[in-house]
Amino acid sequence: MQSRLPLSATVVAAVGLIVACGAARSATESTSTDSSASGLPSAYAKFTSAVTVTQDGDYAVIHATGVPDHKSVYFAPSDSRYEAYTGTNKNFSSNGFQIVEQQLTFRIPTNPKAAASHASTPLGPIGVAVNGVPIFNQYNGQNRPLTVEINSFDQYNGHPQQTGQYHYHVEPLGITQKNGSSALIGFLLDGFPVYGPVENGKRITNADLDELHGHVGATADYPNGIYHYHITAEDPYINGAGFYGAPGTVGR
Ligand SMILES: [Zn+2]
Ligand SMILES: [Zn+2]
Repeated sequence: MQSRLPLSATVVAAVGLIVACGAARSATESTSTDSSASGLPSAYAKFTSAVTVTQDGDYAVIHATGVPDHKSVYFAPSDSRYEAYTGTNKNFSSNGFQIVEQQLTFRIPTNPKAAASHASTPLGPIGVAVNGVPIFNQYNGQNRPLTVEINSFDQYNGHPQQTGQYHYHVEPLGITQKNGSSALIGFLLDGFPVYGPVENGKRITNADLDELHGHVGATADYPNGIYHYHITAEDPYINGAGFYGAPGTVGR
């Protein structure tokens, strides 16, 4: 559970930093890993150029700022990435926070295996999307369903929490609109991939998945088959009762 900081001068100062970091991010794009040269599974090449992926033994080490590569109502209005709400939720209401650049380091297994017992997902990041934005579980900061928080999701289905960390609890529309509804969305901390809500032309529902919100099958990135999670339109959206494999770590 993350500490609860008041929306303060710290946040305001950090929002200013984001503007400056737009240029810095593009300067580091050339550090994006070539998967064939690194030995990482080819799926890791799906991370955007703003995300740095390297291999450390059996782990992928993923560095990301967590700042989305799409517009949001949660950037400062003076930021070129700001966009007023354009989504379809008539009850949309800003939660009052703004996106703050993070220093996130995910260490996730590149050859994931089923765990004997399935650890529950924690609050905070449980995985990382291909654009470097953290994936959160189906609960809010009080470990309750997202009933109210859903109304604060921006037009791409993300929102920042109280320290400005932007994240997705549900389908990241900025990724599925760009890469398609069957696309690789990212990885959970256990190293198993997350896919969009459509597979082989069929929309996946919770009934198609196990209690952890996944199943085994071939995917575009793993043609020999792998356990993978799917996003669905209904709660729990991305993950169910816990990790299928042993989770790696996230530092922030
Ligand atoms: Zn949230
Ligand atoms: Zn599937």
